[in-house]
Amino acid sequence: MKAWEVRNGDLALHDVESAHPREGETVIDVSHVGICGSDLPKLLRPNGFSLPEPWRPGHEIVGIDPTGRAVAVDPLLPCGDCPRCTTGDTHLCTGLRRLGWDMPGGFAGQVVVPAENAHPVPDGVDPLHAALADPAAVAIHGLRCHPVGAPGRLAVVGAGTVGLLTALYAHEQGWKVTIIHRDGRAPHEAVAKAVPAVFRSPATLHPQETFDLVVDAATGADPAPLDLALRLVSDGGTILVQNAYHPGVRLPVPLRDLFRRSIRLIGSFSFCRRQCDDFTLALNLLRSDAAEVAHLVCQAGELLNLRAVLDHGAMRPVRQVLTVRAL
Ligand SMILES: [Zn+2]
Ligand SMILES: [Zn+2]
Repeated sequence: MKAWEVRNGDLALHDVESAHPREGETVIDVSHVGICGSDLPKLLRPNGFSLPEPWRPGHEIVGIDPTGRAVAVDPLLPCGDCPRCTTGDTHLCTGLRRLGWDMPGGFAGQVVVPAENAHPVPDGVDPLHAALADPAAVAIHGLRCHPVGAPGRLAVVGAGTVGLLTALYAHEQGWKVTIIHRDGRAPHEAVAKAVPAVFRSPATLHPQETFDLVVDAATGADPAPLDLALRLVSDGGTILVQNAYHPGVRLPVPLRDLFRRSIRLIGSFSFCRRQCDDFTLALNLLRSDAAEVAHLVCQAGELLNLRAVLDHGAMRPVRQVLTVRAL
């Protein structure tokens, strides 16, 4: 079979060995795979990052299992035995591995996954949209699994996929949502219409306007989103950081403010399986909000033509999902 891999800093389509499942694993014929925003810079400039060798990307995977069912793949492979796994905090498992990072991902004809990671795509969910299950699980984990308080006024900094999905889930939970996008980067009209939130740019916010909870769902080349979150959060309020900040970005916070204003600063990495699992809840959200979700995703082309998609479509405002014919 063929797979896209980065080897020695070069992204190319390679002939690779067919997938062989071990006990407890299954082989998925990949039908759709999303291009995650955090992977995009690594795909465009692989030389600028420290990557696994080789790196086979793709962790937003949908495909067909051996029984012919359409499944969405939970890309997290926790050890299952450690104290963190026992409580369902699988994102904190010290043995955590991830498909599309340190395990071969879905930029290939097939992918091997633990059978329990293959979740049937619910009736009423388009397999193309099911590729959003991973970012939706990230969004849900942020609000569900942390002490963010009772629903009130919520600001989401960042109008990317995780920010928009956070707004959908938060609205369902009773939050009144404002999404803060970058100046001059208002989302497409159809997106703004579909998502039950007020869209604002920082320049249009009143200096006295504050929020009980601020979710930083921007992308982190610099600390500006956290600076903004600190400005927007109410005294006694909470900032939830879902932003995968680049390793060199430092906390810009005046610590006196955190102390005096009694602000809670919470990091929220990935998603978990505490009580019920975030990935299943994500698929439920994609079903209940199917009409809205349709505006957050586009069919960007064939995986075979990944290079052309990256060259021409990298800056599309909604999540790009590739379709996969037999490779
Ligand atoms: Zn574990
Ligand atoms: Zn969780």
